[in-house]
Amino acid sequence: MPQHHSLRQRWLIAVCVITALMPLVVCAVLGVWRGIHSAQADNTRRAQQLLAGTGRILDHTLQRLEALHWTAASACEDDVIEKLTYGVYNSIYIREMGVFDPDLALLCTNFGRLYVKVYQDIKHRLPETGPFYNVIQTVVMKERSVIVNLRFPHGGGVNALIDPMVFEELARTAGVDRVRSLQLGFVPGDSILERDQPQFADTLFKLASTATLEKYPVRVELHGSDAEVWSAIDEQLPRYLLAGVGLSLLAAWCLRQVWNRLQAPEEALRQALTRREFIPYYQPIINLQTGLCDGAEVLMRWRHPEVGLIPPDSFIPIAERTGLIKPMTALLLERVCAQLGPLLRNRNLYVSINLSRIHLDDLDIVDSLLTYCRRYEVPPATFAFEITERGLPDDPGHAEVVVDALRGLGCKVFIDDFGTGHNGLALLQRLTVDALKIDRSFVEPIGDESAKARVIDSIIELAERQGLALVAEGVETAQQQRYLADHQVAHAQGYLFSPPVEAADLVLFLERTQPWMLPVTRETEQV
Ligand code: C2E
Ligand code: CA
Ligand code: CA
Repeated sequence: MPQHHSLRQRWLIAVCVITALMPLVVCAVLGVWRGIHSAQADNTRRAQQLLAGTGRILDHTLQRLEALHWTAASACEDDVIEKLTYGVYNSIYIREMGVFDPDLALLCTNFGRLYVKVYQDIKHRLPETGPFYNVIQTVVMKERSVIVNLRFPHGGGVNALIDPMVFEELARTAGVDRVRSLQLGFVPGDSILERDQPQFADTLFKLASTATLEKYPVRVELHGSDAEVWSAIDEQLPRYLLAGVGLSLLAAWCLRQVWNRLQAPEEALRQALTRREFIPYYQPIINLQTGLCDGAEVLMRWRHPEVGLIPPDSFIPIAERTGLIKPMTALLLERVCAQLGPLLRNRNLYVSINLSRIHLDDLDIVDSLLTYCRRYEVPPATFAFEITERGLPDDPGHAEVVVDALRGLGCKVFIDDFGTGHNGLALLQRLTVDALKIDRSFVEPIGDESAKARVIDSIIELAERQGLALVAEGVETAQQQRYLADHQVAHAQGYLFSPPVEAADLVLFLERTQPWMLPVTRETEQV
């Protein structure tokens, strides 16, 4: 049998697939996020490394200048120049050292005496005391060089020019070769190191890190490139994807187990339907005036090959939920036609079939009825259909169409379990039916003094007023039978007369009670 998935099932499958894929998607997103995050962290780390290195170089330079602080006078004696030479010689960072006078004119360097007013342009913005920093362009090499200046308390001071290669080297060890741009400089003031590499785009991720030093007015601004982010994602993503695939497979496996467990009863019903394991039992419906059997209610049983006979309460709800009740009822109709064909053909008996809510959504039941009635030459009018009041909406909508179609074929329509739901009266207003079935729960208390025992009187009164016939269910005692007969209830069924029985036993029952009714050949066909 082809697997038909109901809309609800398709939704469930879609939800399961999405749920199973969720870990993969989440891991992929996490992988990308981790990539971006680690690229950002790298960028920040490089900015900080650059800044820390700058701090170390400035520390070192200032220490060297401070060592000269008290020895170098503003006048450049030979021993002062010797000390400057010694200072340069002993530092890997410092390329040149010099002494300047209170007027900020350079008096000498480690190379010898001179007199250059080097600070004329910036003199006005220099602090009164403490160190100050400036960046110059070297005349010969056109390199940017940082000069650290330390003033004496009495004016004048010493300075040191840091080898430009030092910062280049610093940038190299910080790994900034693939950044979009880099700027290391004094604030306010000149920049020490600058990189602008338009070949590395930064349009997508916009990695930017800035950092400043507490001790020196130095600031670094570093913009990472998209390429760096992509390579970080490349590095992170496979691990996350692998974990995601693992988790998704695990989730799929778990969902599969749950699904199988949930689907097991449905699957069992499907297979039972394929193997045609559903059979009708018949409960005689007795005419209380004549005492004869006028009809029979068809009650479904599942003849399970291992479990045996299964009552309907344990499988009808699943059959209704999954829609399987429709083919199951069709099978029942076919079997009833085949088993009772001769009886029904002579119109000696009517049989009533229980319908579920979903039978009322379309005209499939009418089609099935016509198909089997035609095949077995049974008049449709020998069928009655029981619509249970429970589960039907207040506005039965399409039910009206189905009920009218069935009645149009001469079938009777009963309202089952009348009085047990909340919308029996509303249903009566909308649907034209032939009879009410009085639920067992109202028959049972007959003879009591309880209020419940009086409900049946209201139902009888209502049916009389509406011109509806009545069939009482669950009659178990002679007292109940008498009461119903005295109150003009035309028909009854119950253990008092007969429990639901197989077709052959129904025929035996009829043979015992009304043998004239049976056709000459009373074999029942097996389908
Ligand atoms: P229902 O339509 O109200 O059927 C009457 C139930 O009362 C039957 O139970 C019957 O065996 C039981 N019964 C009959 N006489 C007596 C009695 O004197 N005393 C007691 N205590 N019970 C009695 P069953 O066969 O177990 O069916 C249970 C329910 O399953 C039915 O209630 C009906 O709602 C549903 N059902 C049975 N067959 C079908 C079917 O083919 N289609 C649908 N949609 N529902 C069905
Ligand atoms: Ca019924
Ligand atoms: Ca009932």
